[in-house]
Amino acid sequence: MKYQSFIGLEVHIHLLTRTKAFCGCKAAFGDEPNTNVCPVCMGYPGVLPALNAEAVRMAALVARALNCELSARTWFERKQYFYPDMPKNYQISQFASPVGVGGYVDIPVAAEGDGLAGDGSGPAGSGPAVSGGRTKRIRIKECHLEEDAGKMIHAGNVSLVDYNRAGTSLLEIVTEPDFETGAEAETYIQQLRRTVRYLGVCDGNMEEGSLRCDANVSINLRGAGLGPKVEIKNLNSSRFVRLGLEYEIARQIALAEKGGVVRQETRLWNENRDQTETMRSKEDSHDYRFFPEPDLPAFEPDAAFISGVEAGLVELPFDRERRLALEYGLGEEQASALCEERAFADYYESAVSAARALGVDGAVAAERVAIWMAGDLRRVLNRDGLGTADVGSLRVTSVRLAAIVALVAAGRISAKIARQVFDAVLAEGSEPADVVAARGWEMVVDPAAIAAAVEAALAAEPAAFSEAAAALARGDAARVKPLSAYLVGKSIAASGGKAEPGLVKAALEARLAAVSRAL
Ligand code: ADP
Ligand code: ZN
Ligand code: MG
Repeated sequence: MKYQSFIGLEVHIHLLTRTKAFCGCKAAFGDEPNTNVCPVCMGYPGVLPALNAEAVRMAALVARALNCELSARTWFERKQYFYPDMPKNYQISQFASPVGVGGYVDIPVAAEGDGLAGDGSGPAGSGPAVSGGRTKRIRIKECHLEEDAGKMIHAGNVSLVDYNRAGTSLLEIVTEPDFETGAEAETYIQQLRRTVRYLGVCDGNMEEGSLRCDANVSINLRGAGLGPKVEIKNLNSSRFVRLGLEYEIARQIALAEKGGVVRQETRLWNENRDQTETMRSKEDSHDYRFFPEPDLPAFEPDAAFISGVEAGLVELPFDRERRLALEYGLGEEQASALCEERAFADYYESAVSAARALGVDGAVAAERVAIWMAGDLRRVLNRDGLGTADVGSLRVTSVRLAAIVALVAAGRISAKIARQVFDAVLAEGSEPADVVAARGWEMVVDPAAIAAAVEAALAAEPAAFSEAAAALARGDAARVKPLSAYLVGKSIAASGGKAEPGLVKAALEARLAAVSRAL
């Protein structure tokens, strides 16, 4: 491999604070334009910003989740530039003292030899590959808190501006240039998205701009260090991050191969043409004239603040995935699907533990609940336009699912009836045992009732029965098998579908054996 590629990501996340970062205006997406504004976020002269403590707590929480060290003293700077969506003509941001610095995250990566930069053999067009346990450490340079700008809306000949978003809390998470492929960057974005959702600090919605990514990329001859960097903007899905980077790495290598030089510039991802295009070159890059924001005092986290932050550190998705796989004997993809959302993983663990409490074998509970969740639960969520995060709103609660699993494990209902119970509980919010009792769905296990069902089938099918007995007498197992299965089916049908299949099979076999011995 002649070339090496370097990718560093700058991800902005919208913090789910109730109010904006430096004023009391409501922070909400989708409200009537220019209704959540005040003199502070509109940048009137003489107003004073006040720091939103919840924004700092959320910022610190993310920083700690990404293994950053919290700055002992953190303050804000003014980043000066003009744009119509920014009424103050400067953005309050952090330059010299980010909330957190020097962290890292481990991401799953494809096995060695997959998806190397620019060799064209990478998993292009595919999502991130299953890792088989291999991870790569990505260093986090810093996490800094800042305010967002408003939003320009270009409608035909006019441009409108909505300041509802101006001043809302934004956290920028900057990595070192440690990614080598678009697929790694995509994996990171997906993992980060899940992480901030688990932490409850961001909804991670890329389409609505709650999570935005700028990707920086350079190539160079292997061993020669970083190349001149190109920044790609306008990447509003993790897939576009991968595609944009793959395109850009290929473009830069092709240019270098022709003896050209990569220009340092900002490019845009054009999703209609699947390519990056020049937006502005280095020559017109900004000088922001950062200087300390004089209206906001520095923030020094005290012990109470820090312990509050540490208390909010939940088990993160990737860790939970690995724990679930080990603890419950799940496959990598199964564990990852269950950990898609915190609520979904919570549901799983709660259902398994409830099933075990009801006497279901540990491994059986772990397996059965996972199968229900991957199948029927997902089907129902999809049908109702819900996501896995909404699993808690279903009337089939984790405890009720556990009860269904326990009924099957105890042989009281069949797998087929279990699905009917599931649908009934889903529709009525009733208890599985009550559904079974009220509808008379419990399997028949009484020996006399089983024997009666078998006798009824034999009486109705004399030809099949005598043929089976004759085949058994001459030791023709291959012929006995289908006839016996047929007669088991008829016996169960004779019981109204409720006779326990194992008991029916045993009773039928005993009856056949007795008759064939007499032949
Ligand atoms: P800037 O001052 O232009 O914003 P930074 O040093 O803050 O640059 O880096 C921004 C992002 O670009 C970081 O994620 C960093 O890892 C990445 N980066 C910096 N230099 C390079 C390079 N030569 N190639 C690829 N990525 C780079
Ligand atoms: Zn305001
Ligand atoms: Mg920068």
